[in-house]
Amino acid sequence: MTSSPVVDLRDYRSFCFRGEGQANLVISAKHAATGSRIAKSERVNKYMERIITPFIEPQFRVNPHIVELKIRDVHHLAKVPSLPADEKVETFDELVQLPDELSFLPFSAIPKGTKRLGCLQMLDATSIPNTVLTKTENTITIEVKPKQGFFQNHPNFNVPYCNNCILQIEKCGSGRFSEMYDFCPLDLYSGNYGRMRHSLESLFRDPHRNLRVFVNGYLVHCDKKTVEQSDFDETFFPDRRAKLDDLYHALCLVLSGSDENSPFQLHDSSVLGQILTAQKIDSIGLGRAFSLYNALPGNVKAEILDKTRLARKGLDAILSPAKNDAQNLIERYLVSATMKDCSIMVSLKLVSPSSGEYPSDVVTLANGTRFAYSIKIVDLDPKTPKHIQNAYTRLSAGLKILRIGIEQGVRRKPCVPPESVENV
Ligand SMILES: [Zn+2]
Repeated sequence: MTSSPVVDLRDYRSFCFRGEGQANLVISAKHAATGSRIAKSERVNKYMERIITPFIEPQFRVNPHIVELKIRDVHHLAKVPSLPADEKVETFDELVQLPDELSFLPFSAIPKGTKRLGCLQMLDATSIPNTVLTKTENTITIEVKPKQGFFQNHPNFNVPYCNNCILQIEKCGSGRFSEMYDFCPLDLYSGNYGRMRHSLESLFRDPHRNLRVFVNGYLVHCDKKTVEQSDFDETFFPDRRAKLDDLYHALCLVLSGSDENSPFQLHDSSVLGQILTAQKIDSIGLGRAFSLYNALPGNVKAEILDKTRLARKGLDAILSPAKNDAQNLIERYLVSATMKDCSIMVSLKLVSPSSGEYPSDVVTLANGTRFAYSIKIVDLDPKTPKHIQNAYTRLSAGLKILRIGIEQGVRRKPCVPPESVENV
């Protein structure tokens, strides 16, 4: 770490809290001179590089650099998450003036002798890089948590609902089971235009934890802060040069890797195609992962609990077909769980049909509307057996609510045809 460059936060402005992953607090700030942005991370690890990178094409990756910050600066920076949502602090000196109690890293928690802290600096996925495009159009960023894109059954749980929808039932609670959102990941990944579009429209109507929408880097639409359906056109396209309909259509095309000139399908090379391929290295599913893990002897459990283990082992050893023991199956499950829980950031910006060269990718709709776009996969946090325990507890609770709901005659459309569900 001593060779990492030291960053002076006084060179940055517009500090803003972006969100919280399991291992990270994400804070955005703009470099006064270069416009590059910085994000803070509690834990820097090799997991991304050794395990996740092989699954994802370079254009979908956010490659972080390790930088160092002075520990006093990190203390001040850690005040940002305490500020009201989406509030920006313009200069670092203003941040220094704010009360010390706001900081997530109090001075008392800093070990004696610590002078610096390693952080991850990465490009901001709510901007389209290197564009020389018109400044007047909005950059619209859609952050989707696509969840698990294929159906897996669980021992003794013989229901035609996918993991996401069962867990969603648990979140909504028994009383509001019928008010659940319509989004099902199996629709999003289906490769069927109508189903995919329906899933996206459902998310815009009811974002829950699966959708956030930014305009020029500002959060405008999420679970807690919603734009009325009738105001979307005005919010995204104040000049009325496109419609929400165009945005949905462009999203379907870029997420599936399709274009207007060939039949619509989910391409393996697309962002969703790559995520799905990586998810499918898991052959056991949550229910079996839970029972296999619990049956392991204590010393093997302890090995799997080691957070650095997967990265040290490397992807080839994890995927080796020669190893099919419980430990290996669980490790594959854990890698897959990262991909079942990641987010996709799609940034789109209208470009005029007549303008010449585009440094980024462009999608052209049949009606002539064109968007420059960029796609990044984020929130690729390593998972531990704790994740299996928590998810299984919620899955069981969701199934209980589902059974009661079905007995009471509450209907939710099955995620897969009921006759296709086999006993396991
Ligand atoms: Zn579902």
